[in-house]
Amino acid sequence: MSVLVIGGAGYVGSVVVERLAKTGRKTVVLDNLSTGHREAVEPHVTFVEGDAANADLLEHLMREFRVQSVMHFCALSLVPESVERPLAYYDNNVRSGIGLLAAMKRCEVGMFIFSSSAAVFGEPAENPIADDAPSRPSSPYGHTKAMFEQILRDCSHAEKIRSVSLRYFNAAGATDKYGEDHSPESHLIPIVLDVAMGRREAVGVFGRDYPTPDGTCIRDYIHVSDLADAHVRALEALEKGGETTAYNLGIGHGFSVFDVIRAAEEIACRKIPMIDRPRRPGDPACLVASSERIREHLHWHPQVVDLRRIIDSAWKWKQAHPNGYAQKSKEHGESPDIAVS
Ligand code: UDP
Repeated sequence: MSVLVIGGAGYVGSVVVERLAKTGRKTVVLDNLSTGHREAVEPHVTFVEGDAANADLLEHLMREFRVQSVMHFCALSLVPESVERPLAYYDNNVRSGIGLLAAMKRCEVGMFIFSSSAAVFGEPAENPIADDAPSRPSSPYGHTKAMFEQILRDCSHAEKIRSVSLRYFNAAGATDKYGEDHSPESHLIPIVLDVAMGRREAVGVFGRDYPTPDGTCIRDYIHVSDLADAHVRALEALEKGGETTAYNLGIGHGFSVFDVIRAAEEIACRKIPMIDRPRRPGDPACLVASSERIREHLHWHPQVVDLRRIIDSAWKWKQAHPNGYAQKSKEHGESPDIAVS
């Protein structure tokens, strides 16, 4: 029996795989390495290089490894990009996802953990955002996540696939081994730390005229290891027969772009230059989670709730991996256990 983790070589997926391995579960990672990194997968975990849209491959893996549950991390996930390329987002995040559920049905795999997003709420009427707040996405990305949550609710009884949708707010930080390495990088914390390391000249602040105390956007930054813990708890709940549901995942406190920059300045002990930039399309002013439902149902409590500790973990990882995973992959010539063209 095993867990198939699709997109397990990416940022959040790699940390979840690390955590799953600690629970002793047999884990198989499928990733096409379009944005993920081979070196981000725990060395003793089976790694298959291939595409989640390849139905034959999915079926083969589900049967070969006697897969019982699937975790899905392989979405396109940038709000501004989704505004510019909506078809790519609906194709990857919805169409491929349906293909995956169909393959699960054919193989009688009945448990699914879905990486959803705060983007399903769009510009919320109030913060913190309750688990049952209305879903009103303000970007194609948010729509893909809301649609897929709906598909999962519909599949629950009819197709016998029970699922937990985990709506990440802003994943941040690193474990000792695995951290954030996107190319090109677009996320605030790694960009701020790149500036602190002298690898960029300044951080662009996307809008300082939002209706927030300092005019910059407020987000709920949640440590990636707390996200990983939530995945394992969600899986355990499904294994015990739990019903389909969705949970908001954040620490319940918001920090502005300026808060993040100031905290990084303290950690790195240096000034971080900023430049004013226009607002990014699709960016809500404030997104803070109420994670009451998962706290109550699964007794999940985030362990790293201090912004400085979150940023400090990312800073340590960056210093240990100044070129992200790139340097290491060239040195070691890592390859998949199974490669599929
Ligand atoms: N942001 C910024 N400059 C950057 C990157 C991000 O001002 O170079 C802002 C962005 O507008 C948002 C917040 O930082 O308000 C977090 O953005 P990020 O891309 O990290 O995550 P998102 O909230 O889009 O998932």
